[in-house]
Amino acid sequence: MAGGNLDIQLIKGGKRNDGRVPNQLRDIKIEAGVLHRADGSAYIEWGGNKVLAAVYGPREAVPRHSQDPNRAVVKARYNMAAFSVDDRKRPGPDRRSQEISKVIGEAFENVILTEEFPRASVDVSMEVLEAEAGTRCAAMTAASVALADAGIPMRGMVAACAAGKINDTVVLDLGKEEDNFGQADLPVGLNIQTGEVVLLQMDGNLSPDQFDEALGMAIEGCRKIYELQRDALYRRYRRDESNGGRA
Ligand code: ADP
Repeated sequence: MAGGNLDIQLIKGGKRNDGRVPNQLRDIKIEAGVLHRADGSAYIEWGGNKVLAAVYGPREAVPRHSQDPNRAVVKARYNMAAFSVDDRKRPGPDRRSQEISKVIGEAFENVILTEEFPRASVDVSMEVLEAEAGTRCAAMTAASVALADAGIPMRGMVAACAAGKINDTVVLDLGKEEDNFGQADLPVGLNIQTGEVVLLQMDGNLSPDQFDEALGMAIEGCRKIYELQRDALYRRYRRDESNGGRA
């Protein structure tokens, strides 16, 4: 985020530079059950983002000192592939990916019924293959489908989506140029069934009124994304049935 640059025109006559209206999402495609060796998996294409999510568990947590005798621990790992951005990204964990792994892991800890699986771990791995702004929301949305695909009991499905501000206008789901030159970005993760916000971050500046508008817009976006998650899981289920139960 360049801290907001009002000189760069990102919206004109109610249309954004990529042709979207303010409350319009980028194109999103989700597929559930794409990896055979994981307990659950999903692949998402969201605008120019491509993310693969895999879930293992619940299984005995190792090392043993990482176990919690009362509940499962959720180990989330968000990683951006070296080839996911224009300038090759230095491989391995950096502060940004550690932060994203932490906030996503904590969000899912509040959603998964961890108390049903003492001493176990649920491992959630998110690999960003191509990045074009909004990868934490894409990763979280895919991970939630992968958790459902793995049959992990949850209090609800999590969908995630950001809203932000460009040229003083609140818009949904910032693209790369909007993220670079916009004024604010507000990623939101929502438990659709309970209505709880399980992830909320903010970069940039919003007035209290703009914050309310952006939060409302992001929540509406999450509800639309949930429909796509549900469709992906239905398709997966039907495919499974016609394969006689095979993945
Ligand atoms: P998010 O992907 O959740 O929006 P950020 O706001 O931190 O997270 O990043 C915005 C975008 O900046 C990313 O989606 C990606 O396109 C780009 N980006 C992030 N980290 C790097 C990096 N190390 N090298 C190049 N581009 C990056």
